[in-house]
Amino acid sequence: MTPSDERIARERIERLDALARRAATAGHEDRARKYVRLARRLGERNRVALPRRFERFTCDACDAYLRPGRTARVRLRDGHVVVTCDCGTQARYPYDSPDEDCS
Ligand SMILES: [Zn+2]
Repeated sequence: MTPSDERIARERIERLDALARRAATAGHEDRARKYVRLARRLGERNRVALPRRFERFTCDACDAYLRPGRTARVRLRDGHVVVTCDCGTQARYPYDSPDEDCS
């Protein structure tokens, strides 16, 4: 894989992330899931890390693009962020600044 392939994969993932977020915000949960799955597949195939925002606001179990306060609950517990999807799946992340997503 050439560096430009990697760049293209990254750009596609960024675009799918934006599309998924927009679809979820508009209430199109199923469409958002499709974008989430496509982005995950692209990341795997090209060995490209998914953006942190994407990792945190998608459900590993049902691929939903989570909207805190709408389709997900977000709680702080023991220095961790606990995100609970509508499907019941919980994900825990260390509590840190979301601004670090500039890799
Ligand atoms: Zn879920």
